[in-house]
Amino acid sequence: ATPTSIMVATGRAAQLGVLFRKGEALQLLKDAKVVAVDKTGTLTEGRPALTDLVLASGFERAAVLAAVAAVERQSEHPIAQAIVQAAQAEALQIPPLSGFESVTGFGVRAQVGSTRVEVGADRMMAQLGADVSVFADDAARLGAEGKTPLYAAIDGHLAAMIAVADPIKPTTRAAIDSLHAMGLKVAMITGDNRRTGEAIAQQLGIDEVVAEVLPDGKVEAVKRLRAAHGALAYVGDGINDAPALAEADVGIAVGSGTDIAIESADVVLMGGDLRGVVTAIVLSRTAMRNIH
Ligand code: ADP
Ligand code: MG
Repeated sequence: ATPTSIMVATGRAAQLGVLFRKGEALQLLKDAKVVAVDKTGTLTEGRPALTDLVLASGFERAAVLAAVAAVERQSEHPIAQAIVQAAQAEALQIPPLSGFESVTGFGVRAQVGSTRVEVGADRMMAQLGADVSVFADDAARLGAEGKTPLYAAIDGHLAAMIAVADPIKPTTRAAIDSLHAMGLKVAMITGDNRRTGEAIAQQLGIDEVVAEVLPDGKVEAVKRLRAAHGALAYVGDGINDAPALAEADVGIAVGSGTDIAIESADVVLMGGDLRGVVTAIVLSRTAMRNIH
């Protein structure tokens, strides 16, 4: 490939909303065999809403939701916004708190008045010794619907199961179909729970799911998928996607994503959805074909 032909293709890509930050990416992308994609904010809108709140016996909805919202008000996770909005929609008085702590990939905790409140995934409850098995049926049902089950504990006692649902972007399905038609495998890598990840993957026709991945685990998942399938493009938007974007043969950030993700990427999609990946690969294939 000549520098001029790469410049021409890169300019064409920019017009289509695909920014190649490195010319090398244009050359590498045509050889991709697998596209690994982050779920939240990439396949989905990244704006979940609270759909269910199931109480453990002895707990009251308004008190639990207000306490949980107080903790989540300090968190920047999309799940947190869903919970705070639900509390606000019910016009609940959100109490002040102290000692907020966020445990990446697990959840959040703080002191609300004299009570300790924990909100997060089942693995966070397991750490506390709070048994979530009373909600096993609800969690299975909600997970199968593609919703994310979370748990709240008050003073170490399981108080509620909360589900949030994050809508799939309307453009995602068609983009995945195109990637398949181009002969690529599509994999999802998510910190979300396995059932939820698999339900969403099934709706989208995704070939492989790596779920319940802790932030450090995304790089490992990228290495494993590459060993199994060949050259890999990773698509993500979050802070926790940055190492995977750097590890991938081609890292592709969604333009609406965080600065850290964009800085770690070789390609940035201005359109903010997965169709840009299709455009990028098509451009790479045609540009390189014209040159040889
Ligand atoms: P992802 O970006 O795929 O959602 P994360 O590592 O950010 O992955 O989160 C993984 C899981 O940790 C979430 O699905 C949720 O169960 C739990 N979690 C993280 N942050 C919060 C929070 N602020 N409130 C409740 N649960 C949380
Ligand atoms: Mg994300």
